[in-house]
Formats: sequence, structure tokens, C-alpha cells
Amino acid sequence: MNRLTSKVAIITGGASGLGLAYAKLFVAEGAKVVLADVNEKVGQREATNLGKNAAFYLLDVTSESNWEDAFQFATAHFGQVNVLVNNAGIANLPAEVENFTVAMWNKVLAINLTGTMLGIKYAIQNMKVTGGSIVNVASAIGQTGFPLASAYSASKAAITKLTKTAALEVTAKNYPININSAHPGWVDTGIIPEELKENILKNIPVKKMGTPEDVAYLVLYLASDEAKYATGSQFVIDGGFLAQ
Ligand code: NAD
Repeated sequence: MNRLTSKVAIITGGASGLGLAYAKLFVAEGAKVVLADVNEKVGQREATNLGKNAAFYLLDVTSESNWEDAFQFATAHFGQVNVLVNNAGIANLPAEVENFTVAMWNKVLAINLTGTMLGIKYAIQNMKVTGGSIVNVASAIGQTGFPLASAYSASKAAITKLTKTAALEVTAKNYPININSAHPGWVDTGIIPEELKENILKNIPVKKMGTPEDVAYLVLYLASDEAKYATGSQFVIDGGFLAQ
């Protein structure tokens, strides 16, 4: 309890899946959270369910002006922002590179990678004096290949290097901000295409997918002061997937 007392967090993609699990755990640990998502109906409902320490903000992570407004909203509502979890992301429709469309490639890169870059940009601008933590949700398959998921895998690999670069930049300027990436393996939320599930299960050493709560405890740690010496690092939680 109280591992995030007096922290204010913006969680992108906070309306559902992993992002909502982080939001619930963060509130239970004393934080105030802004669920920032394109899904207004569900996000509003979940923020209301979480009570007075949660609010919803309609954010499309690909829109730079939305990001400026989101930080203004969070600051006006809760007084400050100390934590950003760049969690919003989408999978590509399963397809081999040979048949991949540029439209699908651009869409995945825009949300997963450009969205994360914009989040980091505005978090640094807002937290460089007061300090804070940025957690970028990548994926175990950003560290390996996975057939039919080229855009997704490439976007998550790029987040890893974006994280390291931003961490080095803020550290060089003595900004009190740490920036890390979290790499979940497989968690059965809406993001995993049905046609991939059988193959995925065969490839997890512990023979089951993780739960959103499994990942939430890692993200909680990275968002807390307990992790303040960690920066520019990759934290994997994957049921042994990458150990193979
Ligand atoms: P999800 O589909 O349940 O949730 C994604 C959320 O992001 C949704 O609420 C959606 O509305 C929101 N979103 C989509 N586009 C957006 C945009 N442009 N702006 C703002 N919000 C947007 O998926 P999830 O499994 O909870 O995934 C969350 C993150 O975790 C993603 O980045 C995903 O790549 C990553 N991840 C998931 C798994 C897994 O197995 N589920 C594994 C590794 C990494």
C-alpha cells in the first residue's frame, strides 16, 4: 500500500486491458490517475468506477496538440504530473511482410512509436524541474521476431532504443526523470489476434499467458521511487518466453 502516495500519473490506453490494470493498482497504492484513451465511453465509465482519484481524458496519442492539452488537464485536475505510462498500442493485422500494406505499417508505427515519442517529449517538458518517471510499454517481441507481427515487433523494438536515448538525454541535463521500458510477454487482453493464440501458448515455457495484474506490479515498481536508480533499462515479464 501507498507506494505511489502523492503521485499523479497519466496512463495512455488506460480505458482497458493492461492500462486499466495499472490504473487500478496505482489508485490502490495512493496515486491519482488520468486514464487517457481514444475510447471515451469505456474510459469515462472506468474512471468513474475508480472514484475521485481518477479522471478520463480523451487523448489520441498520435496528436501532438492532444498531448499538450492532456498535461494541462492533468495538472489542472490533480495539481501536477509525476508519472507517464506510455501504454497505448495496437497490434498489426496478422500478415507476412511479403503481403504487408503501407497503411497498416504506418498506423501501427504512428500509435505505438510516434505516440510514445510524443508522450516522452511532453512528459520531459512538464517534469524536468519537478521530476518523475516515464514507463514505456514495449513487448517481449520487441526483442525477438514474431511471424505475422512485423510492424508490431518493429515498433516495440524501436521503443527500446527511444527509451535509452531519452534516458541518456535527460540524465545528461540533470533532469530528475528516469525512463525505462517494460516488456510484457503474452497477456490475454483484446489485443492478441485469435488466430495467433494457439501458436503463442505453445511458445510460453510456463504454458499460460500472464494476467494484467502480473504486468501491473512491474509497472508499479517502475513508476515508484523504488526504481529511481533504474533508467534507460529494459524490464521483461514474460513467463520465460525470452529465456528460450
Ligand atoms: P488493449 O487493446 O486491451 O488496450 C489498448 C488500449 O489503447 C485501448 O484502450 C485502446 O482504446 C487504446 N488506444 C488505441 N489507440 C490509441 C490511441 N491512438 N490513442 C490513445 N489510446 C489508444 O491492449 P493491451 O493488451 O492492454 O495493450 C496495452 C499495451 O501493452 C500495448 O502497448 C501493447 O502493445 C502492450 N503489450 C501487450 C501485450 C499483451 O499480450 N496483451 C504484450 C506485450 C505488450
